[in-house]
Amino acid sequence: LLIVLEGGDSVGKTTQSRFLDRWLASHGVDHMMTREPGGTPLGSRIRTLLLDPASGTLDDRAEALLYAADKAQHVTEVMRPALERGQLVVCDRYIDSTLAYQGAGRVLDAAQIDALARWATDGLRPDLTVLLDADPAETTATIVDKDRMESESLDFHRRVRDEFLALAARDPQHYLVLPARDPRDRIAAAVRERLAPMLG
Ligand code: C5P
Ligand code: MG
Repeated sequence: LLIVLEGGDSVGKTTQSRFLDRWLASHGVDHMMTREPGGTPLGSRIRTLLLDPASGTLDDRAEALLYAADKAQHVTEVMRPALERGQLVVCDRYIDSTLAYQGAGRVLDAAQIDALARWATDGLRPDLTVLLDADPAETTATIVDKDRMESESLDFHRRVRDEFLALAARDPQHYLVLPARDPRDRIAAAVRERLAPMLG
């Protein structure tokens, strides 16, 4: 099973992935936690290229291709082998982040970004995506990675949010959309409730 946590910046994906990790471990579920960008040695170097201000302003397509390269390496080196070993894989960000940030956020052609992401991931789709949804105007003030978030306009973050929601609305069976401002324990409980029957 591939479970993905998605959402805008600072909605609490990392916190929820820690809760989930502990819960899966306490139930003896063989699993691995990973993230994008940066889930492989190459990926962490790509992550540095992407997020280090010293890289200067990245061309939008160059950025999209770096994210795609991170994904390709991640799927081949980490995710598929883990799934083939029978592990449950939890990934912090995946294809939807690319559709939301590189597609909607950067206003690149949605069909092309979708094709790029499918190609990069060799068609590996999540079984469930947990979308933590929040109004970016409300998260901006309380975030740790405030600088990075503020390097993009509020409109950018709104396009990102709207795209995440649109993706979830298009395929509701494969999504669990939760208000990110709910108490984190309540969010964690909702995730467990949805996941439990999938673990069989
Ligand atoms: O979630 P995490 O903090 O690891 O993301 C790092 C940064 O990369 C965030 O600022 C996020 O906006 C950005 N990102 C992106 N496009 C992606 C994935 C992440 O712009 N596909
Ligand atoms: Mg995070």
